[in-house]
Amino acid sequence: MDKQSKGYMGKIMNVDLTTGKIQIERLSPIVYESFLSGMGLAAHLLYHRIPAGADPLGPDNLLGFVSGLLTGTGSLFTGRWMVVGKSPLTKGWGEANCGGSFSPAIKRCGVDGIFFKGISPKPVYLYVDDTTMELRDAATIWGMDAVETETHLINSLKKKNARVACIGQSGENLSLISGVSTDKGRIAARSGLGAVMGSKNLKALVLAGTQRIGVHNREEIKRLSQICNRWVQFQPPFVPGFLTAPIGALMRMMPAVLTQDGLLYKILLRKWGTVSMNQMSVEMGDSPIKNWNGTNKDWGFFKSRSSNPDVFIRKEEAKFHCYSCPLGCGGICKTDGKFSETHKPEYETVLSLGGFLMNKNVDSVFYLNELLNRAGMDSISAGHAVGFAMECFERGIITTRDTMGVELKWGDPIAIEFLIEKMITRDGIGDILADGVKVAAERIGKGADKIAIHAGGQEPAMHDSRNDPGFALHYSVEPAPGRHTNGAGLYYEMYQLWKKVKGVPKMGPVYMKSSKYKKNIKHARIGKANSQYLNVMNGSGACLFGGFLGAKRIRIFDWLNAATGWHRTPEQYMEIGTNIQTLKQAFNVRQGLLPKDNRISDRLLGLPAQTRGANKGRSVDIDTMMKDYWSLFGWDPETGIPSRETIEGLASVA
Ligand code: SF4
Repeated sequence: MDKQSKGYMGKIMNVDLTTGKIQIERLSPIVYESFLSGMGLAAHLLYHRIPAGADPLGPDNLLGFVSGLLTGTGSLFTGRWMVVGKSPLTKGWGEANCGGSFSPAIKRCGVDGIFFKGISPKPVYLYVDDTTMELRDAATIWGMDAVETETHLINSLKKKNARVACIGQSGENLSLISGVSTDKGRIAARSGLGAVMGSKNLKALVLAGTQRIGVHNREEIKRLSQICNRWVQFQPPFVPGFLTAPIGALMRMMPAVLTQDGLLYKILLRKWGTVSMNQMSVEMGDSPIKNWNGTNKDWGFFKSRSSNPDVFIRKEEAKFHCYSCPLGCGGICKTDGKFSETHKPEYETVLSLGGFLMNKNVDSVFYLNELLNRAGMDSISAGHAVGFAMECFERGIITTRDTMGVELKWGDPIAIEFLIEKMITRDGIGDILADGVKVAAERIGKGADKIAIHAGGQEPAMHDSRNDPGFALHYSVEPAPGRHTNGAGLYYEMYQLWKKVKGVPKMGPVYMKSSKYKKNIKHARIGKANSQYLNVMNGSGACLFGGFLGAKRIRIFDWLNAATGWHRTPEQYMEIGTNIQTLKQAFNVRQGLLPKDNRISDRLLGLPAQTRGANKGRSVDIDTMMKDYWSLFGWDPETGIPSRETIEGLASVA
């Protein structure tokens, strides 16, 4: 046992891009004890260091790259890194999360996070190894896409083990729906933080450190990892892909549902990856269709079969595992056409560019997946921008005079490719759409805001809140709104937190679907537990899909104790989750946002309810859910604002 080592590095790197000065800052252990590392550390630092009213694309915004407390400790599913800053899209708390292999590279440079402020007078990239930390000229790589940038930097520096995070053309062009890429096309896509990086003239980070990541009790971590891995390796045969649609339809027809054990989802993920849900989700009513206005009846078995999960596996050449992941839900696929290979498109991308736009052409999905990954543009937001434009066109709000003569017809892959290519280059109609649907609607006017679907400026993900009202809650109440990764009723079922944490709601083996729509404080209690737990996971660098294995199989709380030498209970870790959530909320309030304004668009709430399809007749009482959720956190139920005393208590941590 190493009493000094605690899993975290205890330091951060501060880079002032205006002056070129780079400094290492040591942090008090109390910061880690109060907020963990990763997202919690970021919430603490950004709350204190970004001034109220800072321009998200100005020098006062901080852009942070943070690793998790458990990354590199020998624990499993804990290789996620996060990029954070004030979002130019929502004007509030911004975060995006990504896997791949960049997270341990941050810690191997001897720090838990790298934070940039200021604006460089010319394009630069940051280079760090064990003896060097410097800003280097990026003139030759400015303009390259993310894959070209990474390849060029690795080859020219002759550093095969270096890890690169960079922006593509989308971030350079300050598109507010751009993200940061690593591992040749995996993107921390949300919150528009690629634009923040572009605004700072920062093209890339190249990390080549080799420092050791120390832990308190490596043997215990290993023992817990072996338990977790046994569950991952349990992989019975499963049905072929074409049967996933009828399974989804069957689930839609049943009035009651079995509480889901995440082991089933793990089996799907290991077999296919997230594309396992392509058809099943449509049939269940989970996938939004046609800019949230359609239903599974518009995008049924025959249309969705072009994205049968087996189609993707046939193109998969190799599995892709994030760092420390025994599952490997990703893949590298061979493709025809302009690009020879691409990361296997994720469910979110397939649906955003497929059913959401009524697009049956799966080749165009593969092409656009790679194009967007290389440009560093968020595929969820890009799909929304295209769907919004198509509905504007259908309603006559825009015409061929606005689109360079192109007819924006639902399902037309040529029109979709046209719009996305124009968004990446910010040309014509693409320039109007490249900052997301809220900004586009403001630019277009003519009532277009009624069909611009977002929460606080962020386009939501491919999970229908009319099917799972838990999504409606988290889309609306999270400090980074519109996000599917923060929580849902289904997620809570799979986390099985009640088996590990005292005082959280228990789920029985079966429940009636109709109960999801009835007023019940339990919905908010589940929402609170989801937010708390996700903050703990994001403080640890844990993967959401790992979390779905269930809290008794993936032992986040126990790994944290083994890594740090702390003796905390799960309930105490959940309280840390509360503190992180409160600081992020306080960040938004300080930046002048009113939390209640992030309420999701009415269409997603079933206001009015759909008259056909899987979600027929369903509407969500979001106002009650939001008030209940805020009350449980001890915040003002009407406004969502935490009390001054609560904020001052958290802000006083050194
Ligand atoms: S389950 Fe998938 S996303 Fe999660 S760590 Fe493993 S490969 Fe990465």
